[in-house]
Amino acid sequence: MTTDHFSYADERFADVQMLRYRVPGFERLTLRQQILLYHLSEAALWGRDILWDQNCRYNLRVRRLLEAVYTQYKGSRETSDFRSFVTYLKRVWFSNGIHHHYATEKFQPEFSSAFLREAVLACDSASLPLGEGQDAEAMMAELFPVIFNPDILPKRVNQAEGDDLLLTSACNYYDPDVTQAEAEEFYARMKAQAPDPERPVMYGLNSTLVRRDGRLCEDVWCCGGRYGAAIDHIVTELEAAIPFAENERQVEVIRRLVEFYRTGNLKTFDEYTILWVNETQGEVDFTNGFTEVYGDPLGLKASWEGYASFIDPVATQRAATLSANASWFEAHSPVDPRFRKTQVQGVSAKVINAVILGGDLYPSSAIGINLPNSNWVRAEHGSKSVTIGNLTHAYDEAAKGNGFREEFVIDDATHELMDRYADLCDDLHTDLHECLGHGSGRMLPGVDPDGLKAYGSTIEEARADLFGLYYLADEKMLELGLLPDTEAYKAQYYSYLMNGLLTQLVRIEPGRQIEEAHMRNRALVARWTLAHYPEAVSLETNERGTFIRIMDYARLRKAFAELLGEVQRIKSTGDYDAARQLVETYGVSVDAKLHAEILERYRRLDLAPYKGFINPRYTPCRDESGEITSIHIDYDESYAEQMLRYSREYATL
Ligand code: ZN
Repeated sequence: MTTDHFSYADERFADVQMLRYRVPGFERLTLRQQILLYHLSEAALWGRDILWDQNCRYNLRVRRLLEAVYTQYKGSRETSDFRSFVTYLKRVWFSNGIHHHYATEKFQPEFSSAFLREAVLACDSASLPLGEGQDAEAMMAELFPVIFNPDILPKRVNQAEGDDLLLTSACNYYDPDVTQAEAEEFYARMKAQAPDPERPVMYGLNSTLVRRDGRLCEDVWCCGGRYGAAIDHIVTELEAAIPFAENERQVEVIRRLVEFYRTGNLKTFDEYTILWVNETQGEVDFTNGFTEVYGDPLGLKASWEGYASFIDPVATQRAATLSANASWFEAHSPVDPRFRKTQVQGVSAKVINAVILGGDLYPSSAIGINLPNSNWVRAEHGSKSVTIGNLTHAYDEAAKGNGFREEFVIDDATHELMDRYADLCDDLHTDLHECLGHGSGRMLPGVDPDGLKAYGSTIEEARADLFGLYYLADEKMLELGLLPDTEAYKAQYYSYLMNGLLTQLVRIEPGRQIEEAHMRNRALVARWTLAHYPEAVSLETNERGTFIRIMDYARLRKAFAELLGEVQRIKSTGDYDAARQLVETYGVSVDAKLHAEILERYRRLDLAPYKGFINPRYTPCRDESGEITSIHIDYDESYAEQMLRYSREYATL
């Protein structure tokens, strides 16, 4: 056996551990496929500045300011001010802006404004983000409060009930003075006028809501429109990719996406996603565009993201097996038959290796992706699910032997169970969540797909997680050869509840509540179960701290089935009040004493709660006529080198 000398864990700063991921099999692809991936990768990198601007309207200028200081600073790099400055810059890079990527709170610098001021004044003024007619002093007067004053733009996405979610959020999807009521009314009116109410476009997805001459209107993100300078480059790379496409459908997909970028027409966007869902023959795939709506407190506007990938044939077999049996799973799901699909369409699922991560998938990335997001497109055309195998592998490898399980798992028997089955079950749970969970169930006719409003994302994630949890314990898993025995699922049940009740708290600062949709979902599932099935699971405290004890795994499965039934009912009927009740009761609040204990135990382990990835670097070699003859891949770039290179080479806005 050969040892794997690749170093997955890279540098650490603040609450972040940087990882590297490998792209196994890239060398085995044909040159055409490599060139296709190269252009799709470039397209995924060119959108970077869009996301920075979406996250907060000052982000790009703050980045330019910080990078000027970082590259030109002449003083000692060993002082505490400079070190704190570097940490701050690394956090800003990581979050694509001045707010934490997950908690969305603004970072508080630990260096002085006097230090930054002096450093800025020593910079070449051409490298500074001066506004119209501004000198360095005026620029600092404008940007320093944004950086240093904790009361200005404190939160990127505020979800606190009762607040005006737009006026209190720093994200840049609405003009600063647009109120929540105005925006909701604007889009309610637009929806009411939908020409095809059965197949509505995703209103508001690709625009900033602005006030012009006192009237609200959309500033659309497209060529010639807002973000046009970045989108032009994306389009150029997409068009360069076309001659290397693997099949005609892929060509159509790319062409339609280009058309969408040119026009900003959301109907074209739906057409593109339908083509994309149906392109399942190629080994290479990608997404590129305005995709997820978590960054908008109203859940309408999509942040820009992109990735490029190719299939991992061996691991894909696992997901393919699930997909081939999608109808069986739907028919046996423990929900009211009225809420089941009669036919399950086109659930395609693949394990892929990422080649590049861009926009909102970089550096912090999802490991499972299910798209498109349009409800009617999913219902009529199905969806594509992927798990990103090489990222999962990097996580697993980097986590080996870090002491986490030893600290939080109750006893040796459970620990052994997890050593044996946890990686396998975790992958399978992700597959179930993405391939079957999100695609399962149906809305009753006439129910507004956005009717759960701010609670919609949490309910949707809970639905997919519960679907996966329920089926992990099903004999079908053995029958399909996906799990080796009837013990394996227990590893996932334990780790899921441990995460939802205890360990995910390490991602929350003391005194804060749970806000992110996936975290709310896990808390909701775990705490609801704890409250309703005390005979199956309990919290137990001993001299080492608080632990989960599971007394009855079979009962636990019953709990998941019951909650899945309720969550599906809420989704299918658009029961806003029940969604609110469920999420607010179980998914939001944090027990301060338990939180403090978990943070302390975690602190002693000295691990970073967040991880993100440094991309590989691709260098095309060209012959005299400019044709690409090979693509060289390397993993040598440091985090800072990569960020600075991206800022240099892909600056558009
Ligand atoms: Zn999900």
